[in-house]
Amino acid sequence: MKKPWVRAAVLALSLFVLPLPAEAAKIVVDPGHGGMDSGAVGINGLMEKTVNLDIAQKLRDALVQRGYEVVMTRQSDVYWSLKERVDYTDVQDADLFVSVHANSYSNPNTRGSMVLYYDDASPQESYPASERMKALTPQSRELAQKVLDAFVRKTGLPNQGLTQSAVYVVRMGSIPSILVETAFLSNKTDAALLANSDERTLMAGAIAEGIEAYLPPDELFPDLRGHWAREAVLRLQAQHVVEGTGSHFEPNRMLTRAEWVTLLGRVFDLPAGAAGSCGAPGTVGGAVYGGGCGSGAAGGLSAFRDVNAGHWAFAALEKAVKAGVLEGYPDGTLRPDRPVTRAEAAALLQRLAEAPQAPAGRQPFQDVPAGYWAAQAIAGLQAAGWVDGVTAEQFRPERSITRAEAAALIDRYVQSAPKKPKNQP
Ligand SMILES: [Zn+2]
Repeated sequence: MKKPWVRAAVLALSLFVLPLPAEAAKIVVDPGHGGMDSGAVGINGLMEKTVNLDIAQKLRDALVQRGYEVVMTRQSDVYWSLKERVDYTDVQDADLFVSVHANSYSNPNTRGSMVLYYDDASPQESYPASERMKALTPQSRELAQKVLDAFVRKTGLPNQGLTQSAVYVVRMGSIPSILVETAFLSNKTDAALLANSDERTLMAGAIAEGIEAYLPPDELFPDLRGHWAREAVLRLQAQHVVEGTGSHFEPNRMLTRAEWVTLLGRVFDLPAGAAGSCGAPGTVGGAVYGGGCGSGAAGGLSAFRDVNAGHWAFAALEKAVKAGVLEGYPDGTLRPDRPVTRAEAAALLQRLAEAPQAPAGRQPFQDVPAGYWAAQAIAGLQAAGWVDGVTAEQFRPERSITRAEAAALIDRYVQSAPKKPKNQP
């Protein structure tokens, strides 16, 4: 199936590499205790809630100066429950949570700094963590380590180490979270430092430095940190092929049909209204897409009862339908917000990408038999090196494709597709 108008717009992509202004990373700063809850009381009479608030405000200022967006839980001497602090954080769409405390211990000689975080390697049965926080263990640990390193280096306080903890605010949230125990109010030397405004400024700056070491203020898509698809996504973002939602990419969310069509529309030239150029029946699977040219090809999106002009991807969907690339279902729906399966994603890409024909009879994956509707598409893309299985033998064609997987697929295509010489039309 060859179509003259199907050309990869790979060269065109490089013409508009305009990095988008990145949104600033957003930090929630939480001064521990407050109001009726004074926290620890120092041997010099200093109340923990007062020290915490001052360091937290100085931390806010240091972060804002570095280019972060900062919100605080309590901003004065008022009481917030632990749950209120986490609930507040959960609706902020923030990147990190940092709680500021001062320590106290029965042994007055104990002094120094520690940073608490939740580690799923040491769960506490009576204090179960949120699923999100369990999964965020590596991120919280790295943030805790970076902040502790910067803190002891800049303040010179003794290093009491990272502390795995199940305190509420580090185990119940939904973003990487730490609790900084700056110094011991129960120790004479530490308490004197905490009573000194310049020292508190130094501590706040040290925490900010640690945060910056973990997450630079202008990092695009902080939720891609350490993610296997990060490089691919950033390459495509620079070419305006992919975009995030706010400051996040949501790499592990399932890709919808509308998102996949939008993505393909940015990589391939789809001429408006290429009448009669619908896909060959069976190529994209009668059972799945309704087979051949649906009524949608002629009538555009108006033929589908589940898409209206208010849909965010309306223009991209209409273009794809009119070009015959996207077809609806026999029941008259287009289901734009339904997740795309790996087989569907492969079939749509193969329609556009002119993947070389796989050698006849070649079935690279055990779970994609020769009779499977998308078998040819999958084999062709695999032969071209554009798709992989989830393992060497398994393709999992019916599994939904994540946004990260889709980006990786497009990135491999864009990087390896034959580029036309620039001087040819
Ligand atoms: Zn405390």
